Amino acid sequence: MLHRLTDQELRHAEEARGFMPPDEGLALAAAAATAEPRLGPMLEVGSYCGKSACYVGPVARRLGLVLYCVDHHRGSEENQVGWEWHEPDLVDSAVDRMDTLPFFRRTIHDAGLEDVVFAIVGDSPTVARHWTTGLSLLFIDGGHGEEPARLDYQLWTPAVAPGGLLVIHDVFPDPADGGRPPYEHIYRPALRSGRFTEVSATGSLRVLQRVDDDSRD
Ligand code: SAH
Ligand code: MG
Repeated sequence: MLHRLTDQELRHAEEARGFMPPDEGLALAAAAATAEPRLGPMLEVGSYCGKSACYVGPVARRLGLVLYCVDHHRGSEENQVGWEWHEPDLVDSAVDRMDTLPFFRRTIHDAGLEDVVFAIVGDSPTVARHWTTGLSLLFIDGGHGEEPARLDYQLWTPAVAPGGLLVIHDVFPDPADGGRPPYEHIYRPALRSGRFTEVSATGSLRVLQRVDDDSRD
C-alpha cells in the first residue's frame, strides 16, 4: 500500500526530532496516500526539525508529488527561551535566535528525501500571500498562538484544491488536553465554512477534505 512506510522510512521518522507521535504520523502518511496527485503538490506549514516531513515525503514521492515545507525556522512562541517547549541546543548563538534549519536539512538528508522535500524558509503568512498553486494536501502545524493559527487558516486553506485534503495537528477539543487555537481558529472555522468535511481523526490529528467547488477564493 502507498502509505505503508518501509521499516527504514519509519525508523527515520521515529528517530527524527520533533513533535509528531508515531500513531499520528502514520495517520498523516495514510491521509497523504489518499491525495489526488492531479490536484497539485503537498505543503506543510511548520516543519521544525523535519519529523512530520519524514512521514509525508516518502508518500509524496510514490505519488509523483513533492512536499514544500514552510518554516522560518526561528521557532514558535512556545519554543523560545523560558517557554515550555524550548530546546537550548537549537539556538544559533551567533545571532542569539533559534535556528532549526540545519537540523531540518540533516533530517531530510539522512532520510534520503532531498529529491522530494523542499524547504521554503520564511514567514508563513507572507509566503501564503504570494502562493498561487493549488494543493492536493495542506498540513498545518505552525504557530499555535491565536493570531498565527488564524492567519494560517485564512491565508493557506484557500490554496487547498477542491477535493484536496486539509490536515491539522494539535486539535484539542478539550482544553484540558492542550492549547485551543488550532481547534478554535483552524479546525472549527474550516468545518463551519462548509468548505471542508471531516474524514478522520487520530489523536490530535484531523483530516478534512475540501468539498466545495468555489474557485474564486
Ligand atoms: N511538524 C513539526 C513540528 C512543528 S513545530 C514536527 O513534526 O515536529 C511549529 C513550527 O512552526 C516551528 O518550527 C516554528 O518555527 C514554525 N512557525 C511558527 N510560526 C511561524 C511563522 N509565522 N512562519 C513560519 N514558521 C512558523
Ligand atoms: Mg504539532
